[in-house]
Amino acid sequence: MDHNSVVTRYAPSPTGFQHIGGIRTALFAYLWATKNNGTFILRIEDTDKSREVAGAIKHTIDALSWLGISYDFGPDKPSDTFGSCLQSDRLDLYRQYAQKLIDKGLAYPDPYSVEELAAFREQAQAEKRPFLYRDHRPENPSAWDGTQPLRFKTPKIKRYTWQDAVRGELTAGVEALDDFILIKTDGYPTYNFAHIVDDHDMGVTHVMRGEEFISSTPKFLSLYDALQIPYPVFVTLPPIMGPDGKKKLSKRDGAKDLLEYKQEGFLPIAMRNFLALIGWNPGGDQELFDDQALIQAFTLDHIQKSGGAFNEEKLKWMNKEYLAKLTNDEQISYVQSALPDRDKQIVARLAHTILERLHNQTEIVAADKAGEYNWAFSDITYDTELLKWKNDNSAQDALPRLQKILELLTDADFNSPEAIKSALWAYAEEVGKGEVLWPLRVALSGQERSPDPFTCAYVLGQTETQVRITDAIEKLE
Ligand code: GLU
Repeated sequence: MDHNSVVTRYAPSPTGFQHIGGIRTALFAYLWATKNNGTFILRIEDTDKSREVAGAIKHTIDALSWLGISYDFGPDKPSDTFGSCLQSDRLDLYRQYAQKLIDKGLAYPDPYSVEELAAFREQAQAEKRPFLYRDHRPENPSAWDGTQPLRFKTPKIKRYTWQDAVRGELTAGVEALDDFILIKTDGYPTYNFAHIVDDHDMGVTHVMRGEEFISSTPKFLSLYDALQIPYPVFVTLPPIMGPDGKKKLSKRDGAKDLLEYKQEGFLPIAMRNFLALIGWNPGGDQELFDDQALIQAFTLDHIQKSGGAFNEEKLKWMNKEYLAKLTNDEQISYVQSALPDRDKQIVARLAHTILERLHNQTEIVAADKAGEYNWAFSDITYDTELLKWKNDNSAQDALPRLQKILELLTDADFNSPEAIKSALWAYAEEVGKGEVLWPLRVALSGQERSPDPFTCAYVLGQTETQVRITDAIEKLE
């Protein structure tokens, strides 16, 4: 294959919602083009004006840009060769192609009124046969003036058989073929027509899309043939299933707009890695693929036929893995941006322990709301009895140990939890770990559950740590 010739495209309609399935298509098309030093196009299919949502194009651009999918041509990057990537800017081209079909006698204006069509339908129903438009083709169609839909005269072919790069040989019968509309009365082409004209005009070599287009493929093939356009490589991507892998992912299973994942604090690299593995199986055990590794490893023959499960738990796991790979400063600003109202310095010291346990910013916000970190930001209150370790007879037993801890911490290095630990560890081994760690944890956090006491001391800093231990001592005295 000529590796410079691969051209792929992502062709969403501007409906304002970037669902996961669409974005996965975009990612695969991008990976395949990039791997082959090819061209990736973002084409906006805005020919159904009734479905269009204001701001949707920007939303798509923002979603791709967040995920790190760059395109060579798009709504904001027209091409010198083929022009705009917005279908609504390309109406002249569709008309030219429509004219070619009219000239060949392969397209005609639909002469029927709504009532006439309804009557045909009723008649077919009464005679228990499927309604087919082509059974009512006018004998001598008039010239097309745009006031009627332009229909394609589908050929009388019994079956179409074609190759799909993922599914192999596919076939569909004549039932899929009827005289479909090419251009509507509002002057816009249908999807069936426009995408074929555009894919050809833009030099698209690989058409990647979901399996819902398989049943319409005979229509497309008949048009390619009528226009004498060579077929592109069809690459049918597997559906995205819910977490149980049994039925298609729905909003009830948590299907969200891509940018909601951004808001929840998923890293684009984690999202890309996660999406790439839905329906594409690199073979082997490796699960973490950074951008370059993905491009390297991506091949069409490892795209699966059957559906791939969308498992948000796996996405969370991946996010945590990638969060752990960030630099210390990046981790700190990640946690700070989740907790903008909290003291920045304290958050900076908490960041590491937070990211050891939690997977994204939504979880961080929830843990903070639940009060898990209150001990770090404000004064604590607790019942003195809590200072009693399970081997102690009374809370007072902890008093000499807290006094010793305070003494050991006077000259300790507070630059890391490990440094604090090393100041206390020998003593803890001597008198018992629980005997030392438990009352220290309670003195610093007021809680039974918290990060380990060395981390608590590090987060609080030396002065506050000493104040809280002194406080505990006074309570016991
Ligand atoms: N506009 C179509 C859609 O959003 C594109 C399908 C295709 O990729 O051909 O479903």
